[in-house]
Amino acid sequence: MRAAVTRGIGQAFEIADVTLSPPEGREVLVEVRASGLCHSDITVAQKGMGVPMPIVLGHEIAGVVKAVGPLVTRIKIGDHVVAAALQPCGQCPACLRGNLNACSNPGALDRDASASECRLHDDCGCLGQLQGLGGFAEQALIHENQLVSIDKAMPFPQASIIGCAVVTGCGAVFNAAKVAPGQSVVVFGCGGVGLNAIQAAKLAGATRIIGVDIQQAKLDLATKFGATDVIDSSAANPVDAVRAATGGAGVDHAFVMIGVPAVAESAMAVLGFGGTAYLIGGMSPGAELKLLPSPMDSALLPLQQGVRGLWLGSSNFYHDIPLYVDLYMRGMLNLDDLVSQTIKLEDINEAYETLEHGGVARSVITFPAAD
Ligand SMILES: [Zn+2]
Ligand SMILES: [Zn+2]
Repeated sequence: MRAAVTRGIGQAFEIADVTLSPPEGREVLVEVRASGLCHSDITVAQKGMGVPMPIVLGHEIAGVVKAVGPLVTRIKIGDHVVAAALQPCGQCPACLRGNLNACSNPGALDRDASASECRLHDDCGCLGQLQGLGGFAEQALIHENQLVSIDKAMPFPQASIIGCAVVTGCGAVFNAAKVAPGQSVVVFGCGGVGLNAIQAAKLAGATRIIGVDIQQAKLDLATKFGATDVIDSSAANPVDAVRAATGGAGVDHAFVMIGVPAVAESAMAVLGFGGTAYLIGGMSPGAELKLLPSPMDSALLPLQQGVRGLWLGSSNFYHDIPLYVDLYMRGMLNLDDLVSQTIKLEDINEAYETLEHGGVARSVITFPAAD
């Protein structure tokens, strides 16, 4: 089968013939039907982020189950599935509490070293799968703990982006911030994840929702998804503009989708009393954040403000993925306008260029049904 392989840091995706091992144990063979282009994959491809290469990236996957290993119990052949970019062992205390992000043994889902062959290889040897997935490919071999079966009426491109963009953006609002009716929210970065935070804030009843971006196309989308105010931070100082939009009070929740310290510092500077800044976009290794100008001089102490890191929207994806499918099917979650374009696997390099510069929310690779 074909896959887009990342051979080394800074190299373009290479379309190559690769081979998948048959499923063993609790592994599931998924025919990938849609695979979203998340910004995190291109960050890994360009900067490495400590990830071993060569590797098949891609962690927003929807597809159809073609085969299952002998020990699989939760997933059946023919199921439509969405994959999650977490590897919960399912047995440690954190997993049993539903805190899948905190699993103490995520490596339990990988093939152990004694396995006869690696899951994925090509002529040059074994290929890694980011987070145990490897979605930039026609097929993927994934542990059943990382899969959720969904309603077969759900279209694959919209389903695929639930795996990362939706659980991350909506989960930040619902699970971590627990945004309440009447509260105020600012979202820095109105791409795929940010637009989900905006529509989740609207669903939660936030009455002031401010979108900040440097691309007009994304600000237009932010308005469409429920932003009450939008700020072009290439033209206006976002701290002054958010303060002005909230009558000087500042916001209850600031979501930072851009992994840039200066943006996180702007988020901290627009918090109101008891407000929290949530850091969501991945920062480069070694990035430093300043608490402005020091914890005591800034408002963090007297105004009881907080800064919190989040990962995949603090999601228990077994619960959240079916919830977001249901909200979409009921017309309450707009995923159609998040899928800006569908592309072919071989167009992946060009599509990532567009993601960086072209104001699209999400490009999704689609694959025709094999049979
Ligand atoms: Zn665990
Ligand atoms: Zn992602």
